Amino acid sequence: MQSFDVIVIGLGHAGCEAALACARVGLKTAGVTLRADRAAVMSCNPAIGGTAKGHLVRELDALGGQMARAADQAGTHFVTLNASKGPAVRATRVLCDRDAYARTMQASLAAEPQLCVIEGEVRVLHVEHGRVRGVELADGRQLVAPAVVVTTGTFLQALMHLGPVKEVGGRLGDAAATGLSDSLRGLGFVLARFKTGTPARLKRSTIDFSRCERQPSDPAPRPFSLRTPAAPFPLQPLLDCWVTHTQASTHEVLRSNLHRSPLYRGDIVGRGPRYCPSVEDKVVRFASKVRHTVFLEPEGPSSDLVYPAGLSTSLPAEVQLQFLRTIPGLEAVEVERFGYAVEYDFAPPTQLRPTLETRAVGGLFFAGQLNGTSGYEEAAFQGLVAGINAGLQVRGQPALVLGREEAHGAVLLDELVTHGVDEPFRMFTSRSEHRLKLREGNAALRLSAHGHRVGLVAADELARVEGWRQAIDGEIQRLGSQRLLTALKRPEVTYDSLVAADPARPDLPRCVQEEVEVEVKYAGYIAMADASLARSHTGFDHWSIPDALRWEEVPGLSSEARERLARGKPGSIGHARRLLGLNPSAIGLVLVHLKRLRQGAPGST
Ligand SMILES: Cc1cc2nc3c(=O)[nH]c(=O)nc-3n(C[C@H](O)[C@H](O)[C@H](O)COP(=O)(O)OP(=O)(O)OC[C@H]3O[C@@H](n4cnc5c(N)ncnc54)[C@H](O)[C@@H]3O)c2cc1C
Repeated sequence: MQSFDVIVIGLGHAGCEAALACARVGLKTAGVTLRADRAAVMSCNPAIGGTAKGHLVRELDALGGQMARAADQAGTHFVTLNASKGPAVRATRVLCDRDAYARTMQASLAAEPQLCVIEGEVRVLHVEHGRVRGVELADGRQLVAPAVVVTTGTFLQALMHLGPVKEVGGRLGDAAATGLSDSLRGLGFVLARFKTGTPARLKRSTIDFSRCERQPSDPAPRPFSLRTPAAPFPLQPLLDCWVTHTQASTHEVLRSNLHRSPLYRGDIVGRGPRYCPSVEDKVVRFASKVRHTVFLEPEGPSSDLVYPAGLSTSLPAEVQLQFLRTIPGLEAVEVERFGYAVEYDFAPPTQLRPTLETRAVGGLFFAGQLNGTSGYEEAAFQGLVAGINAGLQVRGQPALVLGREEAHGAVLLDELVTHGVDEPFRMFTSRSEHRLKLREGNAALRLSAHGHRVGLVAADELARVEGWRQAIDGEIQRLGSQRLLTALKRPEVTYDSLVAADPARPDLPRCVQEEVEVEVKYAGYIAMADASLARSHTGFDHWSIPDALRWEEVPGLSSEARERLARGKPGSIGHARRLLGLNPSAIGLVLVHLKRLRQGAPGST
């Protein structure tokens, strides 16, 4: 029997972050995973970031996570999405060398002396008196620890579909995890089914790129992570991506074979991601569209594989080949691996506290796709927070719970634990009421102090970020004293053009210059956002509701409100306000009751 401070089950994107977060603060950590050589594998498209996801990666980086650093090591094509729109929605997307990404992350795991990677399948969770005690592996090995983080992704009771062929497995080339679902159910957890899918992988040498539109990388990309040196960068050769489109003939092949799709035959019971539908689903749901865009993305400089984003499918292999060959550039394409769908168990996340600890079992945390999310970045952010909180609990320190006004990642967690999911959940900036303030560019300013408090951001890194904050404030003050602020607020005036001829212009890092410009231009909007913030949620999120509160003892609450509160188990007044179906007067009654409890009024519990 081996003993650890924390056990992390699964080393996908969530598990790697969780395990690193624990090991880096000196906790003896076990990372148990089905195959060590498959840790951090990108199951689907080889890209990190994108709309809202780029924000999550920057926030994770500011808190001391690893994903941005790994993407910098492996990046082959960098773009800033929404570059022509406002800074709040601008987002970085990095296409990676698929193998280099996993290798880099595996090297980070291997470099941590406190982290022990164990190959094996966890089948049973051991719980005593409502607290987790450890795990048992399929081969009988026992590991004990006071905290366990479960990050099993798409692997629980996983079933893959390719046309009529069904195969047990969490991902092509990987087995499924077969025992853990029963153990979780035995502990009282509810599990449900979702599905996701992936397209075929194409042989690059068989694609005619002259028939496609070239999409080059940003020629001079900047690192995703604060910790990656700005030069030399990029670290991999830059590659071109390509764009092509489906045709009427593609849609014809798809429509005439719908009856052969496991989705339409009713073989798949789990719900799939709305924002990442399969191509057969697209031609049905968007029947009036005459074509769909396909992005051809090379999987690495030394790989002959191309990932066709937009063509996820589980149709039989011969139908996949038939529809692919109707697409310009793909007329003679050959396929290395066909697309498929996978169904898996997930645990509805309303069973979790905002720390990602389960409500039912102390010391047991869930993160990643297991919580009903979709995407590497969503998984990684949850993994980092679950790992941080597991570690803080073991060390007897207060948990990390970020407010919705501090991070998109906090919005992600709050949405999950408050509302749950009825389809695979992905992040959008529009989910945040504070999105003007939650920009990629200021993630470090917002979150580095939290990263330092939990032990993942070094003092010198925090000092550098605090220096930027001072430099931004100083420069805004200087511009104000020279009466230049009004000019900078004009849309056509940039910071660079404003100070180009200014002999007193200080030598500021580029990130500081950009933040000065954004903060000045958006000061009015940000002030409005601040005012509305002050009027609404913030204070309420810090007004905690004791676990032991009995809703039937809150005077005046309707039975419906009591039922919703009992089901939602809000941890704070802010959380209660966001529960669906609760009106302000119910919240008012709860507030009054809490005030009376705090004042020790008669009848208080
Ligand atoms: C076919 C497919 C298509 C996808 N398509 C998309 C897409 O289009 N868009 C998108 O955003 N995302 C997609 N995804 C999802 C994406 O891969 C996940 O969001 C992401 O990988 C989740 O990270 P995770 O860490 O939660 O889990 P994973 O990356 O799945 O990692 C889970 C880890 O847990 C380990 N494990 C599981 N059970 C056990 C156990 N009992 N004992 C020990 N180890 C265990 C596994 O070995 C694995 O290392 C797809 C996934 C698949 C498989």
